[in-house]
Amino acid sequence: MVTTESSLRRTFAIISHPDAGKTTITEKLLLLGRKIQEAGTVKGKKSGKHATSDWMEMEKQRGISVTTSVMQFPYNDRVVNLLDTPGHEDFSEDTYRTLTAVDSALMVIDSSKGVEERTIKLMEVCRLRDTPIITFMNKLDRDIKDPIELMDEVEDVLKIKCAPVTWPIGMGKQFKGVYHILENKIYFYSTGQGHTIQDIDVVEGLDNPELDQRIGSLAQDLRDELELVLGASHEFELDAFLKGELTPVFFGTALGNFGVTQMLDSFVEWAPSPLPRQTDSREVDASEDKFSGFIFKIQANMDPAHRDRIAFMRIVSGKYAKGMKMKHVRLNRDIQVSNAVTFLAGDRANLDDAYAGDIIGLHNHGTIQIGDTFTEGEAIKFAGIPNFAPELFRRVRLKDPLKNKALLKGLIQLSEEGATQVFRPFNSNELILGAVGILQFDVVAHRLKEEYKVNCIFEPVSVNTARWIECEDEKMLEQFKNKAGENLALDGGDNLSYLAPTRVNLNLMQERWPDISFKETREH
Ligand code: GDP
Repeated sequence: MVTTESSLRRTFAIISHPDAGKTTITEKLLLLGRKIQEAGTVKGKKSGKHATSDWMEMEKQRGISVTTSVMQFPYNDRVVNLLDTPGHEDFSEDTYRTLTAVDSALMVIDSSKGVEERTIKLMEVCRLRDTPIITFMNKLDRDIKDPIELMDEVEDVLKIKCAPVTWPIGMGKQFKGVYHILENKIYFYSTGQGHTIQDIDVVEGLDNPELDQRIGSLAQDLRDELELVLGASHEFELDAFLKGELTPVFFGTALGNFGVTQMLDSFVEWAPSPLPRQTDSREVDASEDKFSGFIFKIQANMDPAHRDRIAFMRIVSGKYAKGMKMKHVRLNRDIQVSNAVTFLAGDRANLDDAYAGDIIGLHNHGTIQIGDTFTEGEAIKFAGIPNFAPELFRRVRLKDPLKNKALLKGLIQLSEEGATQVFRPFNSNELILGAVGILQFDVVAHRLKEEYKVNCIFEPVSVNTARWIECEDEKMLEQFKNKAGENLALDGGDNLSYLAPTRVNLNLMQERWPDISFKETREH
């Protein structure tokens, strides 16, 4: 039962450059997911109308669905988990960690622009784990680049083979639809149906004379073009896709809700079910009976109405059942979890059970950190979910000194999310904030004001870089603490850290203290 449930899971994220259409396609995926969900319950009624009202409800909630981090929906007997990658400009470690929690990715490309910079970076991250990638060439209702050139660009820039699965007929105002190479069917596009589930309008077979009747001379052009394309491109191979070496390519328009269905149909079929994950001692397989999972993301005040902190866990094996006991491995403590939440297209709901591949939310009261492992008793630690050392530092100055407590609370809670780190130096009452990207300082100032009612400003401080300190030898560590005290601090999670005023200083310290490790990333 556990194995079957988990094998139905498809857990993925969308990677794209801003404005390529991630939000739009997400909404269409949810729409398609909903239709299936309701097909059994609204028998006999015109499904189109229901889809429309669903859509409007969703449109109203757009603000929520856009910021929701995880969306789950059923599709073709599968359960799809879609993880949102953060939208802000900084390429953040948050994105990196989200991609450690998925088994595949959907790459959305604006076909009028081709491969853009953020997509390149995200692909680099996917490549670290050979994540299988499915490609959607979007915005076919506009004037786009030549489709053959688009595929060449993906192959050259992103170093992945392309296998076209659908092929576009025309573009922009002349966009007629797509030919499905594997099904040998032509799907016709009609405008103005972006907000509904479309009736499928299909002609079977490329050589069908009906095709010539419907699109005239374009039919022969299509046949000629396809001969060229199929000769020059790769054929779809499941194995190469699963190894991350080849990406199936689909064409369409998210805004027009066209071509998305064909992509999603194949996606749930081909994308891998939950993959095994490495720990410090062994690999854990999704089919194992015993529950295990890791935390890849923490978000404070996610929903202003709840004002709580949610830790996002990817279940790696077994089953979560409401009320179960799990071991918090880092703290070596059993906890009983009865109020894990799930995320259903914008709403959150209390959850009775969940399986490998699912993402569940745990209420965090400060005891959970990014990278933490939870099991049914085994003392293992999932690997590869790092906290990177921040590279930019500011002293935090309160505008209202009476708010010191609220400030510290806010900084610590926001640090749990992983994009910033707060440091409390040993020898002063200052608070120093470290961040990986410069934008984070603005984000923190804004959120402190909105969520914690604290006004603060940031000032320059002479810290160049930070390292986490580890040492097995307690005596040695004590000596080091005595000598280096003026540059030592505790981070938000009470971990010992060294704040180096310069690189030269750091190098000197490392030479002088060879048995102390100065860590650039902190893996829990
Ligand atoms: P995101 O930044 O990747 O989430 O992109 P959005 O989904 O917000 O889309 C950016 C803009 O492109 C919006 O104005 C969308 O309406 C538009 N857009 C998205 N998909 C399409 C499409 O298929 N065709 C056209 N013409 N516009 C699209």
